Amino acid sequence: MAKGRIPQAASERNDALISSLLDGSDKAMSAYDIIEALYPHGISSPPTVYRSLARLVAKGLVHRVESLNAFVSCKTHTHAPNVEALFAICKDCGKITEFSDSEVAERMRAWARENSFKIEHTALELRGSCSRCADASVPHTRK
Ligand SMILES: [Zn+2]
Ligand SMILES: [Zn+2]
Repeated sequence: MAKGRIPQAASERNDALISSLLDGSDKAMSAYDIIEALYPHGISSPPTVYRSLARLVAKGLVHRVESLNAFVSCKTHTHAPNVEALFAICKDCGKITEFSDSEVAERMRAWARENSFKIEHTALELRGSCSRCADASVPHTRK
C-alpha cells in the first residue's frame, strides 16, 4: 500500500524543504539563514544548500537577489526561468517584492542587440522603503 510519495533522493527532499522555506518568507534568505532554519531537518552543509539552490534557480522556482547575496522564492511565475525578475527591496524591514515589466525587459534586450552585447543574466533591484515603512517614518508630530 502506498504511504505517500517518498522522495527519490536526498537532493529532492532538500530541494522541497528549501523551496517551501523560501515560499513562506517575504524576505531574502542567505545560504546560512537557510541552514539555520533547516538544521533540525538535517540540512547543515553549505555545499548541499548551494547545490539545491542552484537547481531551484535553474528551474525558476527561486531567484538570487544579487545585491543581498540571498535567495527568494519566485512569487510571480510569469516569466521564464532566470529572465528578468525585478525586485524592490525595503532597506528597513527587508521585505522583497518581485515584479516583472515587459517594457523594461524589452528595452534592455534592445540595448544589448544594438551593442552586440550577449546577456547572460539580468538583475534589476530597487532599494528603498516599502509603503508600510515609508508611512511609519513620516513624523506624525509635525504639522
Ligand atoms: Zn520570479
Ligand atoms: Zn519595509
